[in-house]
Amino acid sequence: MENDVSEEERTPLRGKRRKEDEVMIPNYDHLFDEGKTAPKGGKGFFGKLVKYNFKGIATSTVVYLFQALPVWVMPLCTANIIDYATKAVESGVTNEILFGVAVNVASIILSLALNVPFTVLRWRIVSKMLRRTGAGIKSAVVRKLQCLSITYHRDMQSGKIQAKFLKDVEALETLFHTIMLHVLPHVLMIIVSTAISVYKNGFVALFFLLVIPLNVWLGFVFRKKIRDTNKDYRVKTEDMSAKLTTMMEMTAVTKAHGLESVEIASLDKSIKNVTYSGLEVDKVHAYFGSVSYALHNILNVGCLAFCVFLAIKKVITIGEVVLYQSMFTSISGQVSSLVGEIPALGKGADALSSVAEIMTATDVEQSFGKARVGKVYGNVEFKGVTYSYPKSSVLAVKNLNLKVKSGECVAFVGSSGSGKSTVMNILIGLLKPQGEVIIDGTPMTELDLAEYRHHISVVPQNSILFPGTIRENITYGLDKYTEEELFKAVEMANMNEFLKDLPDGLDTLVGEHGDKLSGGQKQRVAIARALIRNPDILILDEATSALDNLSEYHVQQAISASVAGRTTFIVAHRLSTIRNADTIVVMESGEAVEIGTYDELIAKKGKFYELKKLAERE
Ligand code: ADP
Ligand code: MG
Repeated sequence: MENDVSEEERTPLRGKRRKEDEVMIPNYDHLFDEGKTAPKGGKGFFGKLVKYNFKGIATSTVVYLFQALPVWVMPLCTANIIDYATKAVESGVTNEILFGVAVNVASIILSLALNVPFTVLRWRIVSKMLRRTGAGIKSAVVRKLQCLSITYHRDMQSGKIQAKFLKDVEALETLFHTIMLHVLPHVLMIIVSTAISVYKNGFVALFFLLVIPLNVWLGFVFRKKIRDTNKDYRVKTEDMSAKLTTMMEMTAVTKAHGLESVEIASLDKSIKNVTYSGLEVDKVHAYFGSVSYALHNILNVGCLAFCVFLAIKKVITIGEVVLYQSMFTSISGQVSSLVGEIPALGKGADALSSVAEIMTATDVEQSFGKARVGKVYGNVEFKGVTYSYPKSSVLAVKNLNLKVKSGECVAFVGSSGSGKSTVMNILIGLLKPQGEVIIDGTPMTELDLAEYRHHISVVPQNSILFPGTIRENITYGLDKYTEEELFKAVEMANMNEFLKDLPDGLDTLVGEHGDKLSGGQKQRVAIARALIRNPDILILDEATSALDNLSEYHVQQAISASVAGRTTFIVAHRLSTIRNADTIVVMESGEAVEIGTYDELIAKKGKFYELKKLAERE
């Protein structure tokens, strides 16, 4: 029964159907495929989005035509009513005039009444489409981030990625919002209003067309300025976000060294940059908004004067003056609104290229068409493996040749910076070296790495625990495991020694980064996490070097229990750790200077012997 309760707590919503679960996230993985030229990517992007959402766009457009009925019904009917009134003043009220006025008034009311349901309907269609699009893009970004190599993530600060994910995807959603709810309707309205004017009087319509080039010219004048200021603002915001993340991660170090004021000053500088950049954005917007407002109204007055002139010349009626005046106001308003959307479009376009930066990054692990990895026996061969980090002139690993048989234990020793971790990362497939790494006869480049990694487990020097219980940290990512398997891993990792003192045992919460456990305890949780997967290859990269002697002793016990029956790679700082290794590799500046068993290397009186002598003196 007790087990049932904890099971329920682990997956609190299990068994209950929720409305959220029924939301479908569309697959937008290929949205950016054609824009491979980040950061200007996103070509072909709109075409695809339109294709994915064609049905929604088409229906919402049709609905819009009904929703917008008052915009053209009202001026037409108002003009008619005024003309009836003029007629009545000139030659008395007739039944025909009364009837005509009634019909026109009724038409206006009807078009307005219809406006309500159609507006609601269109909002529903558009909002559904937009939310789904946003979800699709977010999900595509997440999947892409999971495919990108660890090297990419190292170069890209996580704060920047967060800013991209949250802010830019939102800006993209706003972009579609703008297009669907403003740009598209404005364009439609301009077309319909112009058509009605041309139908009524081509000459006057010609005058109308003047407004378009004027407005467009205005837009172009401001566009570049708007785009540049927006981009500057975005880059500075990303920078601030990255700094904040770093600051949070460094808090302990900062406090320990009393460097709070340095951090505050550094962040303040970023905040100042963002604020200044934001002020520039606002300034450009203010100029743009006011200039287009003034231009819009000057053109309106010009149109009124022109129509009044035509009416005096008896070319058009007074009613038509009102009709054209409202048509013109409408067209000119639509055009300047359209131009007014340019900043929003600029912002969206910038966000688009920012998201495209992630989506078109090519630093991904390709698993397509690679050999599936059913079983790993753990025969590993390094053949002329050489690696240098990008932008580095020295070789981190030089021409490593090593053959490891299934079930063997290989230890790497050497001073810090000699390339041991690099070799381990090559073995995990995180770094792509020159030369070949061959696993059970297949070169690693031909393996599906994600699958291959299901067969290996890694315990790094500083293990990463997430906030949650010890149990959750051990079973991270496993969908099924038995309690026996868990207990076995816990026992092999020598965890019982401290578990028995914890009131909640395995269900103890470890706190952020596992801060509520000591270094040695965290390491043993990490070892249990590695062991419960029953890996065919186990990699321990200085799993004990951050520990005090007692903790090391406990972890050492755990390691000795774990190496049996699988190929194990141990990077060890303390030589006692590797007494029983089958092969010892001594690294120096990226080179394997000695390879052999413990006894062989001692007898040789070379580098290993020196290292051992040094260690004994400590
Ligand atoms: P070890 O694990 O033996 O201490 P590493 O394999 O971590 O050594 O490092 C080997 C060399 O590669 C060192 O000179 C180190 O400065 C360099 N190096 C390690 N990681 C990176 C990296 N991400 N980018 C550039 N150089 C690196
Ligand atoms: Mg290392």
